[in-house]
Amino acid sequence: MTSTESIPPVTATRVLVLNSGSSSVKYQLLDMRDSSRLAVGLVERIGEETSRLKHTPLTGGGEEREREEPIADHEAALKAVSAELTADGLGLDSPELAAIGHRVVHGGLKFTAPTVVTDEVLAEIQRLVPVAPLHNPANITGIRTAQALRPDLPQVAVFDTAFHTTMPESAARYAIDVATADQHRVRRYGFHGTSHAYVSRETAGLLGKAPEDMNVIVLHLGNGASASAVRGGRCVETSMGLTPLEGLVMGTRSGDVDPAVVFHLARVGGMSIDEVDTLLNKKSGLVGLCGDNDMREIRRRIDEGDEAAALAFDIYIHRLKKYIGAYYAVLGRVDAIAFTAGVGENAAPVREAAVAGLEELGLAVDGELNAVRSDEARLISPEYARVAVAVVPTDEELEIARQTYALVGNPS
Ligand code: ADP
Repeated sequence: MTSTESIPPVTATRVLVLNSGSSSVKYQLLDMRDSSRLAVGLVERIGEETSRLKHTPLTGGGEEREREEPIADHEAALKAVSAELTADGLGLDSPELAAIGHRVVHGGLKFTAPTVVTDEVLAEIQRLVPVAPLHNPANITGIRTAQALRPDLPQVAVFDTAFHTTMPESAARYAIDVATADQHRVRRYGFHGTSHAYVSRETAGLLGKAPEDMNVIVLHLGNGASASAVRGGRCVETSMGLTPLEGLVMGTRSGDVDPAVVFHLARVGGMSIDEVDTLLNKKSGLVGLCGDNDMREIRRRIDEGDEAAALAFDIYIHRLKKYIGAYYAVLGRVDAIAFTAGVGENAAPVREAAVAGLEELGLAVDGELNAVRSDEARLISPEYARVAVAVVPTDEELEIARQTYALVGNPS
């Protein structure tokens, strides 16, 4: 055997997942042989006087590192991340890196699946900026920066909207003038799709069934919140629409309101469109109703007898219940309801209240099971219940890494 034969070929099994916001980058490096995380971290306040970088190596016994320093832009941020990874022996120049997977918020109608980024793909993501002005520009910057760092690697865009592109027109269209809607691409796209895809599949796995054989309602309740109805593994309805503003009551977003509220606030309230936009997106929802958007704080205040917090909770639950009922009707038969994200995974009182009184629909929660705190996917419905109620922790980064790796395979 010659010396070259004795060196095993390098297999590229790592995927870097990047979630680029306007002033932040979250990242995870995963090894797809066992889906393990090698490092996680984030850079915040990019472009401000003091930015913050937090990096946690999860292999080789390294310590969590945090530092504050000015980081001017996304390029500087990714270079800083790269330096941290290199210090852990996980540098982005490694031949073991197979691809970089990017979360892209809006993929419109065109992107129904993860896509290897080309110039045309970037141009299309750019064309969607008018319908995602806050998110797509940051996502594009993240992709361009990563391309500059590793021009030889496939960059894969994984779209928040992709899972929802299977919605029928009856669910995706608003009942407004068709020509106007089409001209301005006004329709319901839905978001959080990566989470809804992952959680609906994991819920089937938890019940030992194939996703094709299951009808699931997924309730993604984080700071942003959305519900989806998934029939046989395909999304048929979701609560967010043209933008993430529609649907459930959220941390700072109103969710559904009569659109005439906007005209009223402009005409009678004298507010500008931008002011109403800020009101509905940033100063409404739980924070608008009671001043807090953290469910832990709201529960604490309720325990102390705070009426505003109690009313905010009731409004949140009422909306959630309306969506459960609506999606039950959309699906006809429901096999499981899955709670996920910060509130869904942690707030037992929310889960209990959301299904309370729905026994006639086959829905119930077992008090003891619901009170268990765990990071594992688990059932919280009593054995007799016709519909399984589950808590299924979401993992958008793992799903992005899986979709990315499945697309590029192993290029070595
Ligand atoms: P994001 O939409 O920002 O990704 P998350 O899914 O992380 O949000 O959810 C964040 C929210 O989860 C917090 O605002 C808080 O309301 C809720 N939350 C987190 N931990 C708990 C907990 N232990 N109990 C109740 N609510 C929680």
